[in-house]
Amino acid sequence: MTHPLLDLPPLTAARFAEIEQRVAGLLATEQDVVIMQGEALLPLEGCIRGGAGPGSTALNVVTGPYGRTFGDWLRDCGADVVDLAVPFHSAVTAEQVGQALADHPEIGFVSLVHAEAATGNTNPVAEIGEVVREHGALFMLDAVASVGAEPLLPDAWGVDLCVIGAQKAMGGPAGVSAVSVSERAWERMAANPRAPRHSYLSLLDWKARWIDAGRRALPHAPAQLEMLALEACLERIEADGPNVVMARHAAAAAATRAGALALGGGLEPYVHEARDAAPVATTLRVPADTDAASLVAAALTADPGLPLVAGGGALAREMVRVNHYGPDATPGAVGASLDALGAALAAVGRKTDRDASRKAVAETWSGR
Ligand SMILES: *Cc1c(COP(=O)(O)O)cnc(C)c1O
Repeated sequence: MTHPLLDLPPLTAARFAEIEQRVAGLLATEQDVVIMQGEALLPLEGCIRGGAGPGSTALNVVTGPYGRTFGDWLRDCGADVVDLAVPFHSAVTAEQVGQALADHPEIGFVSLVHAEAATGNTNPVAEIGEVVREHGALFMLDAVASVGAEPLLPDAWGVDLCVIGAQKAMGGPAGVSAVSVSERAWERMAANPRAPRHSYLSLLDWKARWIDAGRRALPHAPAQLEMLALEACLERIEADGPNVVMARHAAAAAATRAGALALGGGLEPYVHEARDAAPVATTLRVPADTDAASLVAAALTADPGLPLVAGGGALAREMVRVNHYGPDATPGAVGASLDALGAALAAVGRKTDRDASRKAVAETWSGR
């Protein structure tokens, strides 16, 4: 008997190239798209190791935990790193980026995270792209948490390396990822003697063995199941319409924010300004005398399927994340998540208004 996951015909090079084209369509990019056969940290690390090296200076914008990881990689590559860190409850501005570039004219590489699912903020990439382009640096963007949740236009914004993963708002698999690569970025990597070559991290290998070879033969066996899942989630986004999918995420974020404020109990939006809050996920600050991880554990006892997690690392005490992305970008998931948090807060003696919260969620959602 054939097994639906195991006994599949091989994924052809033509099908692989078609999926690549669909990703390019989603990103509205004319640049080369490389689908990397691993989680998004693979292209992110490949981009940094390909674009930076000894003697180069990089501006690393830190608006959450991923920015910290990029800084570590950049230093490990031997680059001089200028860190521009802003509080995780806010966003960086184009002015701040412009000032850092003016202070350090030698900067030749800029790394930025578009939206941070881990901290719930999003950055104004269109405006930042303008100042980076004016300066002339290579611009790398981590768009894993923004793709599918909010507008993402790498070509229009002057992004040279735009990395996406399907596991957040695209509602797809985590095991493959993609990056669009500008002509300038290819030139930079080709000129970098330390750029990964003959390596799983290498973008240049994909260029030589796949793109420049006419996309006729895959360099190695593809992650077939993940590629099929990526194709399926792209089909679903195309069928729903990318704008509809994005509107659903924006509504989820607005409704979560409004619902949390109406709930009370000391719960507050973690990101101060609504305009800096990412559509992909909403972070909430718990009252000072409450432990966020325990609160989430209590909320999940009623329904373990709710998209609730405590913040990572040091944020586990103070932050709750409502991961209203992909299949959870619905009024039901948002309402039930806040309801469960309300019940958990009430159980530790906090005064909450769950009816007001439900009403705020419903009204905010339908008002959009
Ligand atoms: C989710 C995410 C990633 C990928 O990390 P995982 O924890 O493996 O899902 C990368 N960058 C950003 C900004 C993300 O939000």
